[in-house]
Amino acid sequence: MLSVEEALERITGSARLTDAQTVPIAGCAGRVLVEHAITAHLDVPPFANSAMDGYAVRAGDTPADLRLIGDAVAGARSLPMIEAGQAMRIMTGAPVPPGADAVVEIELATELPGDTVRVPAVPIGRHIRDAGSDTRRGDRFEMPAAPLTSGALAQLTSLGLGKLVVRRRPRVAILSTGDELAAPGARLGAGQIHDANATALAAAVSEAGGEPLVLPRASDDPNVIEALLSRAAADADLLVASGGVSMGRTDHVRAAIERLGALDFWRIRVQPGKPLAFGAIGDRPTVGLPGNPVSALVTFELFVRPLIRAMLSLPGDGRLHLAVRLDQSIAKDAARRAYVRVVVHRSAAGFDARSAGGQGSAQLRGLGNANALLVIPEGEPTGAAGATYDAIMLGEVA
Ligand code: AMP
Ligand code: MG
Repeated sequence: MLSVEEALERITGSARLTDAQTVPIAGCAGRVLVEHAITAHLDVPPFANSAMDGYAVRAGDTPADLRLIGDAVAGARSLPMIEAGQAMRIMTGAPVPPGADAVVEIELATELPGDTVRVPAVPIGRHIRDAGSDTRRGDRFEMPAAPLTSGALAQLTSLGLGKLVVRRRPRVAILSTGDELAAPGARLGAGQIHDANATALAAAVSEAGGEPLVLPRASDDPNVIEALLSRAAADADLLVASGGVSMGRTDHVRAAIERLGALDFWRIRVQPGKPLAFGAIGDRPTVGLPGNPVSALVTFELFVRPLIRAMLSLPGDGRLHLAVRLDQSIAKDAARRAYVRVVVHRSAAGFDARSAGGQGSAQLRGLGNANALLVIPEGEPTGAAGATYDAIMLGEVA
C-alpha cells in the first residue's frame, strides 16, 4: 500500500501538459496562460489624464482666479491649449489639456460669476496620472502562475490584448459504474440509488480547471466498462471511473485497466479511499476511484485535482491550507492518514473545526455540510479535541 505522497507523486508524474489555444480574452476567466512573461506594447494609461473631477490649471499660476475656457470630458479627442491665467473644468479620466500641469479637485475650488474659478496653490503634477505611470511600454513582468482572475483580465485588457494564449482545458472522461445506479432525479426502482458521482465529479473537474465529459453510466459488465473506457481514451486526456475497484465479484474496473492498458497500483494508506486504482490506457492516465461518493470526492481532491492542475502547469492543489483547532475528538483508522469532513468556522482563537457529520465513507450529509478536509496523520488513533491540524479549505469559512 502506498503512502499519500507516493501515490500523488506517481499520479502527477503521469501528467502531460495540454496544448496551447488562442481564446478571446472575455472567455479566459480561470484559464491558465501558456507564457507568464508579458511585455507591454502600450503605455498604461495611454495618455496623461485626470485622477479627479476638478479644474485643469497651470500650477505656476496658482493661487489665482482663473478664466474658464471650457470642459475636458473623458474620451475628448482634442482640447485647446491652456494659456496663462486660464483653466478648464476636467472630469476623471479626461486627457489633460496641453499647457495644464495640475488638477485642482472640485472640493477645493469655487466657481465665481463670469466664467471664473478661484483655486488655491497646487504643486505641478497634482492629480495627474501620467502616460505609462502604471505600466510603461516595453516593461517586462511575470503574471502569477495561477488561473486568470478578473483582476488579471482587467490588467491584460488594458495592455491592449484581445486574445490570450492559454492551455487547453484537460478533457476528463467520467464514468460511473454500478448496476444499482439511476439518473439524477429518476424515480428509484428496487435496489437502486441515484448516481451522485457523475454530477459531483464533473463539478470537481470543472473546478480544477478541466472539461468534464460525462460518459453513459456503465452496468457492472466488464465488456460495457471496457468498451466505454477504450472509446473515451481516444479523445479524453484523462479517464476517471468510479466504483468497481475493490474485491467484490462485480468489481471490474481494475481488471479493465489491466486488460486495456497497465495498472500501476491500487491501494493507498488513506481514509477514506483505500482502494484507488491508477494506471494508463494507451497514454491516457486512468484513475478508478472508489464508488462511495465520499471516498470518490476525497480521493479526487487529493489525487486527481493535482493531476489536472499539473496538466495545466499549475502547482499543487491550489487550496488554502489553514492550521485549525479541532473542537471535538473524531475516530479514525490509526494506520491510515484520514481526511475528515469538517466545518471550519471563526473562533476567538482564529479558526476552529467541528465534524461536518457522520464520517462513514457512505455518509453524504457530512460531505454536503463540509467546507474543509481536516488532515489527521497516520499513527494517530483519533483526531484529538483541542489539537491543531491542517485543514484543506474547499469552500467558504462558516
Ligand atoms: P463500489 O466501489 O462499486 O463497490 O461501490 C461502493 C459503494 O458506493 C456502493 O454502496 C455503491 O452503491 C456506491 N456507489 C458506487 N457508485 C456510486 C455512484 N456513482 N453514486 C452513488 N453511490 C455510488
Ligand atoms: Mg459497484
